[in-house]
Amino acid sequence: MTIQDFLPIRNYINGEFVDALSGHKINNFEPATGKVYTTLPSSSVADVDKAVQAARKAFPFWSQLTINERSQYLRKLSQAIDEHLELLAQAETLDNGKPLKISQGVDIPRSSYNFRFFADAVTQFSGESYATNHGTINYVLHQPLGVVGCISPWNLPLYLFTWKIAPALAAGNCVVAKPSEVTPLTAYLLSHLCKKVGFPPGVLNIVHGLGAEVGAAITSHPQIKAISFTGSTLTGEKIAQTASAQFKKLALEMGGKNPAIIFEDCDFDRTVNEIVRSGFSNQGQICLCGSRIFVQSSIYEKFKTAFVNRVKLLKVGDPLESSSSQGALVSEEHFKKVLSYIELAQKEGGKILTGGKSVKPSGRCQDGWFIEPTVIEGLANSCRTNQEEIFGPVATLIPFETEAEALAMANDSRYGLAASLWTQDLSRAHRVARDVETGIVWVNTWLNRDLRTPFGGVKSSGLGREGGQQALEFFSEPKTICIQYEGH
Ligand code: NAD
Repeated sequence: MTIQDFLPIRNYINGEFVDALSGHKINNFEPATGKVYTTLPSSSVADVDKAVQAARKAFPFWSQLTINERSQYLRKLSQAIDEHLELLAQAETLDNGKPLKISQGVDIPRSSYNFRFFADAVTQFSGESYATNHGTINYVLHQPLGVVGCISPWNLPLYLFTWKIAPALAAGNCVVAKPSEVTPLTAYLLSHLCKKVGFPPGVLNIVHGLGAEVGAAITSHPQIKAISFTGSTLTGEKIAQTASAQFKKLALEMGGKNPAIIFEDCDFDRTVNEIVRSGFSNQGQICLCGSRIFVQSSIYEKFKTAFVNRVKLLKVGDPLESSSSQGALVSEEHFKKVLSYIELAQKEGGKILTGGKSVKPSGRCQDGWFIEPTVIEGLANSCRTNQEEIFGPVATLIPFETEAEALAMANDSRYGLAASLWTQDLSRAHRVARDVETGIVWVNTWLNRDLRTPFGGVKSSGLGREGGQQALEFFSEPKTICIQYEGH
């Protein structure tokens, strides 16, 4: 089977593939060529309601399965992803513009692992109990919530989509999920895999369409008990306003403007390589990318030269070619936004050290949305370029003298998702890790994830945490039961 055999994209509701009730469609583009390659349903409130009703109907069956039975379903889905790795990787690259080798090596394997991880994690998930020495025992039941909503972004499409729905399903909930309208393809193919492995109808429903319509309908639906969202801070604010007023459980993973702090005693060559990776992986479109690079003055010039030389080696080009380390940006709108920030940086007094322009690869990608990896210096941390999330292949270098100065600048941000620290001084690493205002800190490493750990941001980057135990707790309601068995 090829991707074409599955197109156009359709909703997956109650185990069936259906168009939007209105019949409306949205064009879907291939970022590497700038051309429309298929359509997706432009769904609305009525489609979401249909999905919610299907999920409600499926809930008694799904929630009453044994943990082992639910776990087996997730395992089957994981295995089906492995068996279709090449198809899914091709689809992710077609839809998102990222290099095929990244889809093959990172996105799709991690999507499969998300299901396997939660298939295992749920078998170890249980409530605590507290016995007293005067005849009472308390224990905690973690019960599924019912129907939950999962809303995901375009940067790691199947990877983040499955990171939400796997724990939601494992904990016994039925799901109404919405992938980004910019990258709906792999979620759609996942719905075919659900059908193939015999997922019970209505347990997972995938509704496609615009955020302001489908996303808003999921958020406001009175029978959806919790919303797990990953996306921009602006959308997170809108979701919080609606969902909080209805007292829904809410987990928000939002934007970042992450600091990388490089001290003079760092392991120099390794640090340069890792900072290139943290700045430009996935064309800089990872919420965890280090886009504000603080470098201690004593090594600033040496670091700058080595870093810029390494960035110049990144090859921008057709994501299907194995020599390309940088693919296309996800959409024309985003491409224009990133270019406008490069222009703004220059207006603010920034000097471009490398990059700064769009790229037109020859051949099939000449109308694609490509931008050179760009490094800028000469900007204060307080300027807009360093305060607003660009979410593209753009990083700035900022010198500092002391640890206190670096920390003050790193924390001078509305965001607080992740930080990376580069030093051989153990005491300093612990001290700065403690004081930096982010939900995640990496020391001498970046994007090194153990899925058991809590994941999420502080300030405008997040509310709540994902991760093994945390996600299962989020998708269930703890109930305390107190029994007095003697001493009445
Ligand atoms: P976005 O906020 O535009 O969209 C995210 C999702 O929300 C999409 O599915 C979209 O359709 C939906 N949506 C849009 N408006 C909505 C509304 N009014 N109500 C409900 N849903 C709505 O974000 P994006 O551009 O797709 O993704 C990029 C952003 O995601 C960046 O800010 C990035 O930092 C962030 N992100 C964060 C993390 C994290 O873990 N913290 C991970 C990846 C991406």
